Amino acid sequence: MIQEAQSKKVVVVGAGWAGLGATYHLAKQGYDVTLLEAGPYPGGLVAGWQTTGGKSVEAGIHGFWYPYRNIFSLINELEINPFTTWTRSAQYSPAGLEVESPIFQDLPRLPTPLGTFIYTQFQRLPLIDRLSALPLLYSVVDFDNSDAAWRRYDFVTARELFKDFGVSARLYKEAFEPMLLVGLFAPGEQCSAAATLGMLYFFILAHQADFDVVWCRGTVGEKIFRPWVEKIEKAGAKVLPKHRVTDLIIDSNNQATGVVCGDEVFEADAVIFAVGVTGMKKIVASSPSLQSRPEFRNLQNLGAIDVLATRLWFDRKVEIKRPSNACFGFDDTTGWTFFDLNALHDEYKQEEGTVIEADFYHANQFLTWSDEEIVGTVQRYLTTCVPGFREAKVIDSSIIRLPQAVTHFAPGSYRYMLPAQTSFANVFMSGDWIVNRHGSWSQEKAYVTGLEAANLVISNLASGTPAEILPVEPDEAHIQVARKVNQTVRELGKSILPDFWLP
Ligand SMILES: Cc1cc2nc3c(=O)[nH]c(=O)nc-3n(C[C@H](O)[C@H](O)[C@H](O)COP(=O)(O)OP(=O)(O)OC[C@H]3O[C@@H](n4cnc5c(N)ncnc54)[C@H](O)[C@@H]3O)c2cc1C
Repeated sequence: MIQEAQSKKVVVVGAGWAGLGATYHLAKQGYDVTLLEAGPYPGGLVAGWQTTGGKSVEAGIHGFWYPYRNIFSLINELEINPFTTWTRSAQYSPAGLEVESPIFQDLPRLPTPLGTFIYTQFQRLPLIDRLSALPLLYSVVDFDNSDAAWRRYDFVTARELFKDFGVSARLYKEAFEPMLLVGLFAPGEQCSAAATLGMLYFFILAHQADFDVVWCRGTVGEKIFRPWVEKIEKAGAKVLPKHRVTDLIIDSNNQATGVVCGDEVFEADAVIFAVGVTGMKKIVASSPSLQSRPEFRNLQNLGAIDVLATRLWFDRKVEIKRPSNACFGFDDTTGWTFFDLNALHDEYKQEEGTVIEADFYHANQFLTWSDEEIVGTVQRYLTTCVPGFREAKVIDSSIIRLPQAVTHFAPGSYRYMLPAQTSFANVFMSGDWIVNRHGSWSQEKAYVTGLEAANLVISNLASGTPAEILPVEPDEAHIQVARKVNQTVRELGKSILPDFWLP
């Protein structure tokens, strides 16, 4: 089996979670894999590197939530130990501390979503507002991540969804919209209701422990990608940074035979794209062969969102209650998070001062600011949350601007997102914006789609063993029953009512 695969060449484009996942599995199956990455390091949005002063920085800090089963399984396989223990988080507004989350798996398990509602410690939000979320449970049951459910909910904005289900203005402003700003990187009026329900279910609502999170004890680049890339290279794959792909060569049988990268052409029996939305749009713009297909031309209808990642070194220790914190209400359409890196990263444990990562999502208005303006604003915002920052002095900083970096799950965008199988027989898609039915999001989804694309290559080239992909934990029994009843009523409705109204 392996011998057959050895002669088959696979080119993977993009070295984020998706591309590395696909490359690793195919290399282990004996394929001759070349991974082409435009940037100077592997890792994609999760890449980490060192400043000229030798300090570790990264394009935003990344959490790993309880349901990231496939990533946790990879970590076990790699025999590395990159993570903190489960951490508690808090939420702040300009009024101060708003919410504290426990470690949900340590508390008696209740049928979902009771644990989330009962154990989360809201400091200010009245019970009546929290109870106004109850009718929304119907849509949580109705949205089962099927294609039909995506088509029903994707044209609606998250704000309309919450309004239609009677969510109070305060609950929306102080709980749901902040979650959207950090989970889907956009305010409610700019988020698809389908993506909202999918994201909230995966990270918070499906099971009590889902919101529990661990962080890397250093940059993900150093703690996970470095040892992983070593393993990938040992398995025989070539990882080539600073290689920007611009086109594909397609033969008369609808097969890709090569990948164009500047003046070079890499021969291919199969190709996997593992590139974000913005990168993919750029490849299409330079690729006559991709432009020949409507599915690729239509990608220009998709959008991405600006993000800003800052790391500040302060001259003294400032006491911070929780290591990870989300903040809302500082800017109308921007959410932000801050992390106590002295608590999370080994490198900063003994540091005399305080090291903070503060990341801003939907940060459009900040990207043109000078570094000084950004640093001043971050310190002011931090002081609002933790007054001890007022007296502290910033002694070093790193500002990373990430224009059009993360996928925008805009209302109506689902129809333009691509599934893994393209109209080219041996070209496959992966990444956190690809349509699949696994149910995961973000890094876990990107990694899963990489494995799914690898499995399609294996089936296309008829050689190797498919990667095992762990499904998300099944719905709890009462949700399964509610979904069944809802589906039956839906089917019944469909059989007697004409197909007349909007879905
Ligand atoms: C600030 C921030 C915070 C985040 N926080 C979290 C979090 O806490 N938890 C979580 O799970 N997720 C988080 N995410 C989302 C997460 O980073 C992404 O979902 C995930 O990294 C996507 O991986 P990917 O492999 O799909 O794509 P990417 O990581 O975008 O990788 C695509 C790669 O393709 C390369 N590429 C582009 N064009 C070309 C070309 N023409 N030729 C060759 N290569 C090309 C790019 O350079 C890049 O390396 C966060 C994202 C950001 C920006």
